[in-house]
Amino acid sequence: ASEEYENLRRRIYSNTKEIWYFVNHELTKIKGEDVQTEKVQAILDQVADRKRSLLSDQQKLIEIDGYHEWRRTEASNLSDLTQRRLKALQNPSDCRDARKVICNLNKGCGFGCQLHHIVYCLIFAYATERTLILNSKGWRYNNKGWEYVFHPISDSCTTSYDDKVVQWPASYDAKVVSLPFIDSITQKPKFLPLAIPSDLAHRIVRFNGDPSSWWIGQMLKYILKPRAAMQKAINDTIAKMNFKTPIVGVHIRRTDKVGTEAAFHHIDEYMLHVKDYYATLELTQYVDKRRVYLATDDSNVLEDARKKYPDYEFLGDSSIAKTAATHRRYTPLSLTGLLVDLHMLAMCDYLVCTFSSQVGRVAYEMMQTNRVDASDSFYSLDDIYYFGGQNAHDRRAVMPHNAAVSQEISFQVGDLIGVAGNHWNGFGRGTNKRTNLNGLIPWYKTADHLVLYPFPEYKHVPQ
Ligand code: GDP
Repeated sequence: ASEEYENLRRRIYSNTKEIWYFVNHELTKIKGEDVQTEKVQAILDQVADRKRSLLSDQQKLIEIDGYHEWRRTEASNLSDLTQRRLKALQNPSDCRDARKVICNLNKGCGFGCQLHHIVYCLIFAYATERTLILNSKGWRYNNKGWEYVFHPISDSCTTSYDDKVVQWPASYDAKVVSLPFIDSITQKPKFLPLAIPSDLAHRIVRFNGDPSSWWIGQMLKYILKPRAAMQKAINDTIAKMNFKTPIVGVHIRRTDKVGTEAAFHHIDEYMLHVKDYYATLELTQYVDKRRVYLATDDSNVLEDARKKYPDYEFLGDSSIAKTAATHRRYTPLSLTGLLVDLHMLAMCDYLVCTFSSQVGRVAYEMMQTNRVDASDSFYSLDDIYYFGGQNAHDRRAVMPHNAAVSQEISFQVGDLIGVAGNHWNGFGRGTNKRTNLNGLIPWYKTADHLVLYPFPEYKHVPQ
């Protein structure tokens, strides 16, 4: 490795020790004292700065380890390969003869949720080598159908003719099967998220830290191709904004979601992470302006944010938010606004959002297709990443742990722990599948357990 690389690696090792020296010294000093708030705050500020420096160094390692270009090329090659395979699947040489799976886009939910519905259908199609037929007549966003807003998901095969349709679960021989919503699927197939294809897995992990969302992002990339009129509407809105990097995307989901499916989060909670992002960036580069792209369905948020944070420049369109808030789910206009927001969020350098929202998760998945690895470029105020209706998500213990307090659970190296969430305080919650005990787990002693599934390998598609 290069001299620069070795120096940086040693610097990180040594500065990790420095953090401990500092915290140990400061806390020992105030032990037994009547601790003052300012003293504690001063320690927190110093530790935060040391943490930022360490993270910033590690970010730089990726750039100078000699594989930067290689990762870029590999990510782009693998994305192209996946897209070619999807295109081949969706355009069989003989449509009449091809096996098919039918999905209806009549899921009574928002656009993010509907996109994930199509993703699920497309993964099913890819896994079973069936061409996906998307029925979208009477679609709530455009009565005439998906194809009037986006390019069709197939150029040459869009009907199952009058072949008999069998509801899933069906036998392999069934020529045409139709899929229920993922929430009500029985005999849930193992290839559903967060599983990834084994023939691609070992390539994906070498450039991306979250292969499951990368894979889902590839499905979105195939599906989401606005037609000329929609693309123009999106481009026109974006052209009016002063989009420049560095920029942080913030997604604030309020209205009907709050209190039913998610908790209310104040703008300050989001801005804390925006601030931290910029403080880290400013250690190594000059930032002319702290920019934020703000997407929301709450029409008051943008104005509030501008008033409260005058040092930041907020990009965003309050009319989009207003439309989103009033006719949230159904109109072509609200769809244009949402596509603008998603597109912009996905172009940002960093994303602060709530993963309880499908819109927040779609933005992250799209981010994963826009760059080599977005897995460290977001902060979710609530859930860890998931796909609605997914199979079990486990973490594997990489170090043994003996429960220190009664809320914690113990585990041995190799134990699988089904995770329910991360409390973002060093601990998460999960169930040890060996002992069946549920409780707090120190997150750092576990690692994400990636599920590989032997998807078909599409050998007829050029590598
Ligand atoms: P979820 O309810 O947040 O999990 O996501 P859904 O996509 O299922 O439904 C939310 C709907 O609210 C979206 O489809 C949008 O119509 C609207 N919405 C939510 N957040 C935004 C936003 O940031 N911008 C815009 N334009 N619309 C939003």
